[in-house]
Amino acid sequence: MLSATGASKGIGIGKVFIVKDQELSFEQKTTENPEEEIIRYKNAVEVFCKNTEKAADRLKESASEKEAEILMGHILMIKDPYMNGEIKNKIESGQSAESAVDTVCNMFITVFSSTDDELTKQRATDVADIKTALLCLLLGIEEKSIADVPKGTIIVAKDLTPSMTAGIKKENVEGIITETGGKTSHSAILARALEIPAVLSLENACKIFSEGSQVIVDGTEGIVIKEPDERQLSEYMKKREIYLNEKEELKKYIGKETITKDGIKVELVGNIGKPDDANNVLECDGEGVGLFRTEFLFMDREKAPTEEEQFEAYKKAALIMKEKPVIIRTLDIGGDKDIPYMQLKKEENPFLGFRAVRYCLKNQELYHNQLKAILRASAYGNIKIMIPLVTCLNELTEVKDMILQIKSELENENISYNKNIEVGVMIETPAASLIADILAKEADFFSIGTNDLTGYTMCVDRGNKNVSYLYSPFEPAVLRSIEHIIKCAKAKNIPVGMCGEAASDPMLIPLLVSFGLDEYSVTPTSVLETRKNISNWSKAEADKIAQTVMNFNTKNEIIEYLSKI
Ligand code: PEP
Ligand code: MG
Repeated sequence: MLSATGASKGIGIGKVFIVKDQELSFEQKTTENPEEEIIRYKNAVEVFCKNTEKAADRLKESASEKEAEILMGHILMIKDPYMNGEIKNKIESGQSAESAVDTVCNMFITVFSSTDDELTKQRATDVADIKTALLCLLLGIEEKSIADVPKGTIIVAKDLTPSMTAGIKKENVEGIITETGGKTSHSAILARALEIPAVLSLENACKIFSEGSQVIVDGTEGIVIKEPDERQLSEYMKKREIYLNEKEELKKYIGKETITKDGIKVELVGNIGKPDDANNVLECDGEGVGLFRTEFLFMDREKAPTEEEQFEAYKKAALIMKEKPVIIRTLDIGGDKDIPYMQLKKEENPFLGFRAVRYCLKNQELYHNQLKAILRASAYGNIKIMIPLVTCLNELTEVKDMILQIKSELENENISYNKNIEVGVMIETPAASLIADILAKEADFFSIGTNDLTGYTMCVDRGNKNVSYLYSPFEPAVLRSIEHIIKCAKAKNIPVGMCGEAASDPMLIPLLVSFGLDEYSVTPTSVLETRKNISNWSKAEADKIAQTVMNFNTKNEIIEYLSKI
């Protein structure tokens, strides 16, 4: 049994098909005729763009618009003036088109793969994908396709590139195993969109398995079983059936309200990072957006988006969601989220440093642009503003003052906006939790950010393996904090939601039902499962459980009890 990263849920049982590296050798020769080489290169780029567009169209059908955009991004990359210019420069200085493409792409691959940022690392795979396609075109070699694999195939590859994935016929592929890629890599996103079980980052995967041998992929647990015996086969066939039945059962929650067993209605919304993700929320039957992490709009570019660009992005999300709520969280950078052009100084303790609302209030122009863009977009839908990492009342009042100031600017400029826009606070620090009663007097709503609240309450850096055992929302300290925050919101009659990962944890849900959480904001793909889990409990049942749990002294007792209910 081998374990690695489970990146797309489900169980696949099938025969291995290894995607071998394409043989793309060529002579490193110079050219006497750069003009001709430039034409060869341009022709290859043109065909590449056409092929990519066609592949994106196919992907739109088998997955969705969003996944197709990953491929369309390759066209933008190869047309990028810098990359394109570098290749042309190399050809003009005497390199053949093949050598120039190879050299420049390799340079980008090295730069992108040397960062710690998952998104930037991902771009190395994209460039490698572009390089292979262009070299195949220049060398007249047919690019390897996995379109024709037979039914019941488990694809094993170093990395599953977006262009390869576009060719997959999902009815024929039982599972995917790769040597690289994390949960947020493009291969993971594509595997999930195609609903194919996937285990990624399995070291030496291409060498471990022999072609045609049988293998089990458990994408839920991140497990791969090589040449399973009879007992394992029958165990996993049963597991697969249970998983598929559960998936089918979830379908009955589509289009339903989110209510507890005794009819208490709550809101079930989704977390997004880009405006287009709002489509995902709708596809997954979310009732709105509970957290738009706007820092993603600031990443992967050379300077901050302008007010206009941000306005368009927020407006797009609002229009997609129609009258449904869209909670836009203002820029939350710093800590683990670095944006190179913002030149955040290296700090001893970045998680305790100059980040989120602290940074924004000291960079007034940047924050002003963002708040103005959000206010302008509020004329197009049901937008609300949320402030991250608040630790004291002043931060909230300062932001509210800025919003008042911008509102009067908009009045003077005759630009419409929602005069009653709500301004909420993310409760994700112990300080905010302790003064939740004070904040509740000034905030229009709360959203509990359990990802940070857990870390800060337990004084745990999630990345530090030695202390990660303490990182759990089931620690009594964290549970007490959650209960207290919800009580304070209720006392002041403001709605309270949760947008950290814990909001979709099935074991936590009875406690949240008991505490009276109003809104659950989850990864869009968890919407139906969370709706089902909420519907399993009545308030009275949940209260009984909460009473027992809140009297335990340790996380272990709590988890042991909750795992059996
Ligand atoms: C949180 O801290 O729970 C949260 C939702 O914010 P982020 O994960 O973006 O820090
Ligand atoms: Mg947070």
